[in-house]
Amino acid sequence: MTYISVLGLGAMGQALAARLLQQGHSVTVWNRTAGKAASLVAKGARERSSAADAIASSDITVICVLDYAAANSVLDGAASVLAGRAIVNLTNGTPAQARATAERLAGLTASYLDGGIMATPPMIGGEHALILYSGSKPTFDAHVGTLEALGVATYLGADAGLASLHDLALLSGMYGLFAGFFHATALVNSEGIHAGEFLKLLGPWMTAMMGEFPGYAEKIDSGRHGVNVVSNLAMQAASLENILTATREQGVATNLLAPLLELFRKRDGAGHGDEDISGVFELIRRRSGAG
Ligand code: NDP
Repeated sequence: MTYISVLGLGAMGQALAARLLQQGHSVTVWNRTAGKAASLVAKGARERSSAADAIASSDITVICVLDYAAANSVLDGAASVLAGRAIVNLTNGTPAQARATAERLAGLTASYLDGGIMATPPMIGGEHALILYSGSKPTFDAHVGTLEALGVATYLGADAGLASLHDLALLSGMYGLFAGFFHATALVNSEGIHAGEFLKLLGPWMTAMMGEFPGYAEKIDSGRHGVNVVSNLAMQAASLENILTATREQGVATNLLAPLLELFRKRDGAGHGDEDISGVFELIRRRSGAG
């Protein structure tokens, strides 16, 4: 049994605390606004009236609040008790925010794990919940048994920014997929075809197209985008032109796909039309010396 505190009892904090209680841990909870702990207290949690009291009463503290501004204000209020404590921050933020918090806590001799939750609250504790961690490896190793109860716990490295970087990258992939879904559906919906009906075609098509990813990944990693004799960039730029022309003709907004056509044209115009479309990666990748 681990003595663990959960700070922040929004939808996610509630789910995390409930799961930890279900696993038999000794759970202390705190929330900025009172009145959110009742159901957890009924299940055995102890409520504290300050974040500092909650942190001081546990081996490890999980913070899960709206954003880093909120997380930092929680830490500000508890600065006097942070020395020697283990803090796991599952609040969504950027790599730079995670690194700044790690540096600040290192200065207070607290150990810090940053985390990215790849799950919705009802998924916590289920087989599809994934939580990415980075930062203090000794803290991860000491508490992985407890953290595994929340979701598959994956440690990405000592740089505290890595969990957030991967979290945001995975979400970027998701939003790109959603953007394709929205655009495609708007196109057929312009003729009154229902989204649910169209999904019967779109779902398997998108799944099949994900089969292209390993080939793209290989080309991106090697930096060589080859000569594509099957579906080269110039051909795909022409068909993307057609898609956007048809989109305008159907009275549908082009916002979601227009930036991709711009990149296709740019790469084609630079003499890479016979290559794979993975070459557009070269237009967006981080330039050496950037960042
Ligand atoms: P909610 O909006 O449900 O809850 C927000 C929580 O943050 C509340 O406990 C709120 O306290 C607290 N809070 C906000 N501002 C402050 C502040 N200045 N000081 C102290 N506490 C503050 O959000 P969720 O619980 O859903 O999300 C929490 C984190 O988990 C977010 O970073 C979110 O991105 C991440 N996450 C959420 C997922 C989801 O599907 N819900 C999925 C993956 C990650 P109060 O009650 O006092 O307002």
